[in-house]
Amino acid sequence: MNNAPVAERGFPKEEVYRHLVSILGKEWVLHTPEELIVYECDGLTLHTRLPDFVVFPTCTEEVVKIVKLAGQYKIPFVPRGAGTSLSGGAIPVEGGVVLEFSRMNRILNIDYENRLAIVQPGVVNLHVTQAAKKKNFYYAPDPSSQMVSTIGGNVAENAGGPHTLKYGVTTNHVMALEVVLPDGEVYELGTAAGDAVGYDLVGSFVGSEGTFGIVTQITVRLLYSPPAVKTMLAVYDSVVDATKTVSGIIARGVVPAALEMIDRNTIQAIEASVYATGIPKDAEAVLLIEIDGLATGIEQQMERILEVIKTNNAREIRVAKNETERKKLWAARKNAFGAYGRISANYYTMDGVIPRSKLPQILQEIDDLGRRHGLRMANVFHAGDGNLHPIILYDIHQPGAKENVLALAGEILQRCVEVGGALSGEHGIGLEKQEFMSLIFSEADLHAMQQLKQVFNPENLANPSKIFPIRRGCRELPKNILESSDQKYKAYQEIVRF
Ligand SMILES: Cc1cc2nc3c(=O)[nH]c(=O)nc-3n(C[C@H](O)[C@H](O)[C@H](O)COP(=O)(O)OP(=O)(O)OC[C@H]3O[C@@H](n4cnc5c(N)ncnc54)[C@H](O)[C@@H]3O)c2cc1C
Repeated sequence: MNNAPVAERGFPKEEVYRHLVSILGKEWVLHTPEELIVYECDGLTLHTRLPDFVVFPTCTEEVVKIVKLAGQYKIPFVPRGAGTSLSGGAIPVEGGVVLEFSRMNRILNIDYENRLAIVQPGVVNLHVTQAAKKKNFYYAPDPSSQMVSTIGGNVAENAGGPHTLKYGVTTNHVMALEVVLPDGEVYELGTAAGDAVGYDLVGSFVGSEGTFGIVTQITVRLLYSPPAVKTMLAVYDSVVDATKTVSGIIARGVVPAALEMIDRNTIQAIEASVYATGIPKDAEAVLLIEIDGLATGIEQQMERILEVIKTNNAREIRVAKNETERKKLWAARKNAFGAYGRISANYYTMDGVIPRSKLPQILQEIDDLGRRHGLRMANVFHAGDGNLHPIILYDIHQPGAKENVLALAGEILQRCVEVGGALSGEHGIGLEKQEFMSLIFSEADLHAMQQLKQVFNPENLANPSKIFPIRRGCRELPKNILESSDQKYKAYQEIVRF
């Protein structure tokens, strides 16, 4: 199995540059350090690595030519959407060519009769819903990054979002894919008619994090907008009461469309930002709960939820009176990440899954672990599915901050696994969590997964050094990443005064 770093083999850079320019034109091939620095990281800003080239294809044929060129010179290539991955998926760990999809951003067809849309990979998630809205349809997977993240990136990461609880993640909404494999061949996987006979290759490709090849066209399912929606906000003085409400609602057989939890530090960040909604700043937690469906019966469902909220000592309950109020509550939740800038110089967003019943215990443990490392924690997460997003608040100027943050993140993930959880609910493994894969998978499991990768990507050119542990039993990152990020931080500190 070929997992060796590809870039170490070297390649004639000027010759490759000339070929890329002949495919795309000079304007669409970036190669100077000043241009490339923009693409050295994604949402995982703790690690960086410059690519050798960044290119901007406009169609499948150009993607094929670039991928064939990469194959000819044995150069790694990394697809990139909006670069919002929080697991380092779009970081070109081994250099090579980054294919950026902002020029493949067209919605090719919306077929209301068959409830589907055919889109290019660079289409922004929210734009699908905006385009289908006039006929009352929408695209259900709604990551908090939906204003910028792309459908290509969502497919690669199998993105979720607040409404995953009822509607499922990206894989439940993808019907067919056009893909370019690392040998430059184009394949159509799945059918717009629904379930295909044979192996579920669409299912395998969704969530493969760019390691199987490149998605160049996606057929997604559209849903009819539910006629009735109720959105509630419950304010608590105790995290335990809030978590008991989460379990209580599910135990009563109600499946809300969304059940989100926001903790005290996050409330303070939101309330200090432009998304303030008047949540009491001394509250320990709030739950944002949404139910949707037919108008008949929705009031009764809401009453059942309100009962559980009251039983668990909520100090205040708000029900959005109209769409404007509802949107304001969601804006606060979805922009919480940006709001952390109000209370911390830097933050690191984690992603782990635990059984819902362990919520009170794990939230306490996360807080204790943070304190032990001298770091503040915040939490904003999809409580209904037990998908945690512990946020580590830190200051990169503090000596040893990066190492401290990574050590704490490792301990938190380990605890998630120990209580019966998983490494990722939606952000993927990427570069961030590859060394933790051995915590949940045996050697045999990892080997089987790598064999599947080998079928699609035999020379390991597509997004190499991702997902699988590189140095077993040790938390070290590839040498090139460590060197590169240390140099970069020094350079940044000189350029930008943090
Ligand atoms: C503020 C914020 C909030 C977020 N909230 C959520 C959330 O609620 N739910 C959630 O799931 N995620 C969330 N994320 C993470 C991130 O937005 C998702 O993982 C998203 O799917 C990434 O899309 P992107 O277009 O930015 O892809 P990128 O970050 O550019 O790439 C992500 C991965 O996809 C691969 N890729 C990109 N395009 C293609 C393609 N055409 N073919 C094959 N592979 C490709 C890349 O190689 C990489 O491995 C959040 C991120 C931020 C910054």
